[in-house]
Amino acid sequence: MLHIGAEMVTMAAQSGPRTSADYIALDDRWGAHNYHPLPVVAASASGVWVVDVEGRRYLDCLAGYSALNFGHRHPLLVAAAHAQLDRLTLTSRAFHNDRLGPFMEDLAALTGTERVLPMNTGAEAVETAIKISRAWGYRVKGVRADRAKIIVASGSFHGRTTTIVSFSDDPQARNDFGPYGPGFVTVPYGDAAALAAALDDDTVAVLIEPIQGEAGIIVPPAGYLAEVRRLTAAANVLFIADEIQSGLGRTGATLETERVGVQPDLITLGKALGGGILPVSAVVGRDDVIGVIKPGEHGSTFGGNPLGAAIGHAVVGLLETGEYQARARRLGEVLHGRLDELVGHGVTAVRGAGLWAGIDIAPEQGSGRAVCERLVARGVLAKDTHGQTLRLAPPLVTTEDEIHQVVDALADALTSV
Ligand SMILES: *Cc1c(COP(=O)(O)O)cnc(C)c1O
Repeated sequence: MLHIGAEMVTMAAQSGPRTSADYIALDDRWGAHNYHPLPVVAASASGVWVVDVEGRRYLDCLAGYSALNFGHRHPLLVAAAHAQLDRLTLTSRAFHNDRLGPFMEDLAALTGTERVLPMNTGAEAVETAIKISRAWGYRVKGVRADRAKIIVASGSFHGRTTTIVSFSDDPQARNDFGPYGPGFVTVPYGDAAALAAALDDDTVAVLIEPIQGEAGIIVPPAGYLAEVRRLTAAANVLFIADEIQSGLGRTGATLETERVGVQPDLITLGKALGGGILPVSAVVGRDDVIGVIKPGEHGSTFGGNPLGAAIGHAVVGLLETGEYQARARRLGEVLHGRLDELVGHGVTAVRGAGLWAGIDIAPEQGSGRAVCERLVARGVLAKDTHGQTLRLAPPLVTTEDEIHQVVDALADALTSV
């Protein structure tokens, strides 16, 4: 520890309150460099507004990659968390608790599914769906040992575990993390014919995002998800929809698959399920499929904990009224109407659904990152993806006036170069 002593003394001896630059320096010095954050140091937040350590206000249009669909510190979610903190926080699944069952009952009803397997992070939910579908393949479909194949789509993002990055085609997510796990085949996203050609007797599941989030809010061609459903059903293959980012109100429906009238066999949920307070994820789906998992075969110390279940249950309560889904539809029309006007004015294309937009920035405007920095200067938090795309996903509690503020700030950021 001796070699760091002098630096610690320097930091401790600093007089006056720490500035944003001080905190950024601490992160750079002590944290692993696995992120390159925009230079904003948040200190507090409420609803759609974030306040930094210097007291500057920002409208949060990233919303924790949709983990904050209900805004920061939604009063009903914070109240549920506080109440549960005073009663019971963790039991492990070695015992039952009085929060998990009621949460799962209402989550199943909300999503039109039959059974729930609770986990914590999104990547864990995806891993769980992979394990369930392989076990189903061997035990129910009769696939020969260790031959199970799962079909995924190009451009996908399903998390950061070694198994999941094995089938990523993003070099940054994948390179130098091998050896890669076998058992995955990639087909072009949105191409039902390519999927049909890849299905065979060893195929146990097709895993896709109904709208690809990290890829830049890529909406597949109309009818694609229905065709995936038709093809998988005909081939006795499970359809796993990863709704971790697209689900829970973002696109104007409880689930994006529901919005397009498709019922998958398994659905992964995460992000907004934890209300922006805790990581809460789940696999929901068919009773006979999730039912293949037997005691001892899968689990998690924290999955299904009563604190997360109480918060997740409150999230389900918010979505049961349909109010947030309706807001996302109505305000999404406002957002997309305004964004479409920017095409040809620093923007080359806009995609999305509900309160979710991927905006391709014209090259002469600089990178997506540069535009995000100009937005920060105008009091809007947003994030670029894949270089030239900006994504906007404001919390579903945003007002119509705030939507106009965001697009005005973007128009200004684009014309000011
Ligand atoms: C964010 C995301 C994940 C991973 O969730 P984590 O909680 O970060 O592990 C998986 N799938 C999709 C579609 C996501 O957007």
